[in-house]
Amino acid sequence: MHFWNRGSIRIVLESMEEIRIPNDATYSPVALTDLITAAPLASRVLLGATLPGRVVSAAALGLYAGSAVKDWMHRRDVDWIDFEDQFGSDVKRLDPMPDEERRDEIERLASRLAREFTAERRPREELAEQVNHHLTEYIASMTGQRVVTSSEVRDFTLAKLLFPFAMGVCDIVSGDVAIFKDTGILEAHVITHEFAHRKGYWKELHAQALSYLTLVHSGDPLLVQAGLAERLHRQLKVVSKHDHDAYHDLVEGLKMRDELTEQFHTLRPAPSTYESSVSTVMKTMYDQRMKLTGQNGLSDYDEGFTNFLWTFSRAIGVGRDPGQAAI
Ligand SMILES: [Zn+2]
Repeated sequence: MHFWNRGSIRIVLESMEEIRIPNDATYSPVALTDLITAAPLASRVLLGATLPGRVVSAAALGLYAGSAVKDWMHRRDVDWIDFEDQFGSDVKRLDPMPDEERRDEIERLASRLAREFTAERRPREELAEQVNHHLTEYIASMTGQRVVTSSEVRDFTLAKLLFPFAMGVCDIVSGDVAIFKDTGILEAHVITHEFAHRKGYWKELHAQALSYLTLVHSGDPLLVQAGLAERLHRQLKVVSKHDHDAYHDLVEGLKMRDELTEQFHTLRPAPSTYESSVSTVMKTMYDQRMKLTGQNGLSDYDEGFTNFLWTFSRAIGVGRDPGQAAI
């Protein structure tokens, strides 16, 4: 579809269908999942009794289920993106990106990041509102439907203890999103990725792709930087074959400005003993769970994501301009 002037764009946007997902659970002051799991235990420890905890827990479960059902009802009218039609790529359609192309892309990403570097930081709440807006518009540009969801983000849920390697989580059932740490340069990406899940795109490859493409086309330097940084971060992981030292050597070899080099080192800290033992177990389970749900496994975060952009960049006759995958 082509638009000839700003006036016509405005008219099209105004007539666009809007679907509001209530996401009630995300507005609860404490994660309902935490209340359901932790309340009985806490009351036993603190009060030596199980009843108060059970009451809290049952109430939380009721709210949680109610919110989930309400969201599900609203989500039934959503038109989903057909990734193959739009990008010529999807979970089961990924061309492997050759190693030399990856290395070349790493160089180009690093120099663009250095050229356009911004040291700006924005409060998480403000960032969440902004990326949610951009994500809604980006999806709507393909489906013609604006799916409006909550911009709430919390910084703690018990899931943090189970997934110490994760930067954030989205509870698919309730849409509750938690960001676990200061993710620095990637902050906007981590939030957008979780928000893509909240809008109903629960596959990791889809969340990665939608987040990246939303951010790099937002026109906001801070968001563009986050998207490019995630792409570089994932390429570095693939090329280093997930080896800790090889990753850090690659970062050093890029000779980026100090602020960027430091950020990329921080993204792969040496894990504590607790983290590495829990991570090994949980990562294996998570990888299995992804495979059971029609995904390729943990590789969808990095290898799959970069292969997706590679496949899209060479696609012919697709809905989106393959130039969107260029650096
Ligand atoms: Zn995810």
